[in-house]
Amino acid sequence: MIPFSPPYINDNVIKEVVDSLKSGWITTGPKVKELEYEISQLVGLPNVLCVNSWTSGAIMMLRWLGLEKGDEVIIPSYTYCATALAVIHAGGIPVMVDVNDDFNIDVKSVEKAITSKTKAVLSVDFAGFPCDYSEIRELVASEKITKLFKPTSEIQKKLGRILFISDAAHSLGATYKNKGIGHSCDISIFSLHAVKNITTAEGGAIVINMPKPFDNENLYGELRSMTLNCQTKDAFSKSQSGNWKYDITGLGMKINMADVNAAIGLAQIKEYPTLLARRKSIFKKYSSEFKKFNWAIEPPMLTIEKESSYHLYPLRIKNINEEQRDEIISLISAQQIAVNVHFIPLPLLSYFKELGYSINEHPKAYNNYKAEISLPIYPQLSDESVDLVIKTTIDFCEQVLNAVSKTV
Ligand SMILES: *Cc1c(COP(=O)(O)O)cnc(C)c1O
Repeated sequence: MIPFSPPYINDNVIKEVVDSLKSGWITTGPKVKELEYEISQLVGLPNVLCVNSWTSGAIMMLRWLGLEKGDEVIIPSYTYCATALAVIHAGGIPVMVDVNDDFNIDVKSVEKAITSKTKAVLSVDFAGFPCDYSEIRELVASEKITKLFKPTSEIQKKLGRILFISDAAHSLGATYKNKGIGHSCDISIFSLHAVKNITTAEGGAIVINMPKPFDNENLYGELRSMTLNCQTKDAFSKSQSGNWKYDITGLGMKINMADVNAAIGLAQIKEYPTLLARRKSIFKKYSSEFKKFNWAIEPPMLTIEKESSYHLYPLRIKNINEEQRDEIISLISAQQIAVNVHFIPLPLLSYFKELGYSINEHPKAYNNYKAEISLPIYPQLSDESVDLVIKTTIDFCEQVLNAVSKTV
């Protein structure tokens, strides 16, 4: 049995968690601080705030921005539901646009979708491959677009343009223009969920990179308080004797990360260069083998400006329909190899359909989806397993494609 994406748990991870358990302090404290430091070192930006999930972090940042009824946030249709749900929970309307061949948001479609109600663009680094950051950043700051902007909160007035947030759930460890994710947008949020490259079981990390006149260090403190009910003292400070008094300064959320969770990610991130290198070598091996077949479309991994975090291996197969793709998946799964599909475009899901979104407006997203199979990729995957995945995938793709050509 080859699982799809088991968490990376070794003795160092167990040691770090046990250390937290034995320390007498298991919720937000020193381990979270240390993990924030490690992530900030990895991306090269000083202000990183850990929270209990990507989703709650995104809701909080959009609430901080201050959305009013009817405000719009532009997102790609090819993403996980959380991207859209965060917008709705924060009181906004997700405006879905189509994607490119690289699976990421199409900047021209973003431009067309901008209205005077647009308050944020929320892009996704699909599979860990960075989106077109500079193009989106230039677009939201361009005169043509800022002229349309109608700020309705203090934060929006201070910013003076559409906020650029990145759904970087997949892209911790990716690089854009030789820097970590977070430099070319205002806010980026990583997910530390169990299936992601680095995990705290559940968790997220917000990289704060607001332009002047925002003070990112102050903002870190403000947002951190917002993750703790806007309480002026966290539980750790209050646990020190004589330090009991506190105040509540606003409508906060309760979405802080616990130390016992942070411990898992802390041990992993210390080994991340090795773990990432292993992901990359599996990715390269897959691509070098699939390249030999003209029915295969290997996923993007490396350009002059971008390098993936190798979170997923989204193989696409040319000229197949959804049914044939599903058949290939059944055949591979019957061999005890777990594969997946990333993602079902949002307009195909019942909730979004009922809200009126239609897949007809997202032909590229549909084409990516109908031809996509995500193969297992993680550091613990052995060379033998990689070879078996390759052989099995090739055999069944050829089998299904040959059956197709015989019937036409
Ligand atoms: C995993 C994922 C999320 C949600 O992350 P959580 O930490 O589970 O909230 C959001 N967006 C994308 C693209 C994801 O893959």
